Amino acid sequence: MSACLLGRPVRYDGGAKPVGDEVVKRWRGEGRVVVFCPEVSGGLSVPRPAAEIVGGDGDDVLDGVARVLTEGGEDVSRHFVRGARLALEAARGAGVRVALLKESSPSCGSLRVHDGRFAGARVPGHGVTTALLRRAGVRVFGEDRITEAAAFLRALEGSGARRLRQSPGFGGFWRVVAVMAPVDRSAGRKSSVRLGLFRPLRPEPGQLGGGTVVLASASGFRARSGTSQSGDA
Ligand code: SF4
Repeated sequence: MSACLLGRPVRYDGGAKPVGDEVVKRWRGEGRVVVFCPEVSGGLSVPRPAAEIVGGDGDDVLDGVARVLTEGGEDVSRHFVRGARLALEAARGAGVRVALLKESSPSCGSLRVHDGRFAGARVPGHGVTTALLRRAGVRVFGEDRITEAAAFLRALEGSGARRLRQSPGFGGFWRVVAVMAPVDRSAGRKSSVRLGLFRPLRPEPGQLGGGTVVLASASGFRARSGTSQSGDA
């Protein structure tokens, strides 16, 4: 989640844009939220000159055909690209599948970005970090789409993590790390069976440990590694 949406004063003007949403509070209480500011992590200071993407959007910056410039004309693209890479690293490390990022930012925008003329106008497009996360398969939503983000997360976990939680020996909260569709070689296409990879969010005493990964398929759940005190299902 964008650090500024959680009240961290990391924006270019030294401010924040906190969202006081109950869903976000619940996610935080469940230990699900990874807090990140790509621009600060990419080496920019607080405060810093406002910057906008000139000549395209975040994808074009990643492809080297557009730049992120300050109003004074300084090219800060490398900081934005570095911040995006570090954000992706953090997301992968935590098994993130959904991101809630600040709309319209040249890093975090997901539907719109400023048009590069520093006059307040916005155009359809996404920021540099959003572009990289999307290329890696992370679903990105703006702060005005929290309900959609929560619905997507529910759907993602509905058939997997919830069933897992209710299975003997697999209590507690689980994070979906990956969903895979194996190839059915005899049919020459992806199988209709899905395999899910899960990791415990907050291991509880007497339950599967922090290093445990569970493989799920239609036929049930199996602990593949880590310290299981409950035994495999
Ligand atoms: S880069 Fe993203 S997290 Fe950082 S201040 Fe801008 S919108 Fe917020």
